[in-house]
Amino acid sequence: MLTISAEAQAARILELYQSVFPGAGIGSFIDGEIVRGSGSGLDLTDPASGQVFASFADAGASEIDAAMIAADRAQREWMAMPAAARGRVMWAIAAQIRAHAPLIAEIESRSAGRPIRDIRGEALRVAEMFEYYAGWCDKIYGNTIPVPSSHFNYTRQEPVGVVMQITPWNAPLFTGGWQIAPAICAGNGVVIKPSELTPLSTLILGKMCELGGAPRGLVNVIAGGGLTAGQAGVTHPRTGLVAFVGSARAGSAIAAAAARNTVPCVLELGGKSANIIFPDADIDRAIVGAQAAIFAGAGQSCVAGSRLLVHSSIRDRFVDAYADAAHRIAIGHPFDEATHVGPINNLRQWEKIGQMVEAGVAEGARIAAGGARPDALEGTGGFYYAPTILDGVKPGMSVAQEEIFGPVVSVLTFESEEEAALLANDNPYGLAGAVWTADVGRAHRMAGAVRAGTFWINSYKTINVCSPFGGFGRSGYGRSSGQEALMTYTQTKSVWVETASNPPVTFGYAPG
Ligand code: NAD
Repeated sequence: MLTISAEAQAARILELYQSVFPGAGIGSFIDGEIVRGSGSGLDLTDPASGQVFASFADAGASEIDAAMIAADRAQREWMAMPAAARGRVMWAIAAQIRAHAPLIAEIESRSAGRPIRDIRGEALRVAEMFEYYAGWCDKIYGNTIPVPSSHFNYTRQEPVGVVMQITPWNAPLFTGGWQIAPAICAGNGVVIKPSELTPLSTLILGKMCELGGAPRGLVNVIAGGGLTAGQAGVTHPRTGLVAFVGSARAGSAIAAAAARNTVPCVLELGGKSANIIFPDADIDRAIVGAQAAIFAGAGQSCVAGSRLLVHSSIRDRFVDAYADAAHRIAIGHPFDEATHVGPINNLRQWEKIGQMVEAGVAEGARIAAGGARPDALEGTGGFYYAPTILDGVKPGMSVAQEEIFGPVVSVLTFESEEEAALLANDNPYGLAGAVWTADVGRAHRMAGAVRAGTFWINSYKTINVCSPFGGFGRSGYGRSSGQEALMTYTQTKSVWVETASNPPVTFGYAPG
């Protein structure tokens, strides 16, 4: 098993960071420069060893203000460019990300604890996000509307100005690209604040935007905390829209603060998604799918299939095979090529997972696999948690209702299609869901019946920038991918032109 000493890890991460920002310490990327924070010290911890590998000073209101001013100025420069030229810049940003993909993947893997075998592909997915939206830059336009008067009426889709984006720690690189690409495609400037636990890959993405030819200051990345820099950004007078990805708790506070600032909000929050297995499914494929659904990324995924609903007739057989597969998953150092499941990102989250599993057992669930840190990884100090299956879970239990955000799946059983849909919807969240069945009609009936923003049939976890993604219910609102994001990141202006040679002068409503 791969082990890397704390000193070697810290030195390598700094070396990667400084190959992009020569000589710089960790700070915020504002108007093309790394700026040291004005706040108190924050530590970055290696999830694989529990050791601090770097520290930086928190950003606050003054850094946010500087970033907002830069983004506002750069946004006007950006919109003064022909739309097709903006598209070419976005394409060039993608090329920079592709060229730097090995570096970006390595720093994300080492600093955020994400398995390198997943992250190499993820860096390329991020390049694809910019390529997809490059093509949209010169295809954002309004309508002509046949109003009943002598006017010519048309609409324009205009940028909102500066977008404040806030992202979590579980997939900072992917989420950063997912947020930045549509926002700048629609003509906006960006101030993005990744989690204070994982700022490095987003800082590098900001630099890639500049290297691709975006105006200096168009994309600013803030290394800072939620209650400090995050709040300052949400309440800043230059903020035109807030896009938040994170927990339901923080999302609700942020939406309230954005409302007080009279700016709209897009919320991409958590989930407790149901993965439903019918007896007529291809069971071998469903077992693999059910592993990917919850154990990939150590379950630190908003769309994780954390509730497994199995038909009672196949439950024993399914759970036995599922547990057997869970025991065989390669869990280890994220930078080890052999690792499929790496550590939990941080100690707080690792403790929360343990506490929630304990609560589930106290309420009557049975541990069919996992339930602790794997013995072989005890000495590492890393925040590892074994792939865990909780069997015999009942709908009202905390482990059936609350997001755990770790490699823990709760198994519930059902007798009928109707009961499966009722159970799937027996939760305030509505981010995703899936069904495994050979019956085409049933598959589509379930797709209609489950209340979720994304639904898979005989599959799990595929998302793509081309397709709208977002939540129902307490999983949030608004869509920031696919074509729908262009509406999110623009506002509609209606323009009226009088065409009559001697028009009646009306007060108010146009005559029919
Ligand atoms: P979090 O809500 O604690 O933090 C997310 C971000 O918000 C961080 O950058 C944090 O600094 C900031 N923040 C926190 N409180 C804030 C406040 N009051 N004002 C301004 N900013 C604030 O979430 P987390 O623990 O970092 O991430 C895990 C959560 O993210 C899970 O619930 C997960 O489901 C969710 N998530 C959702 C999606 C999605 O697309 N739906 C994707 C990934 C993660």
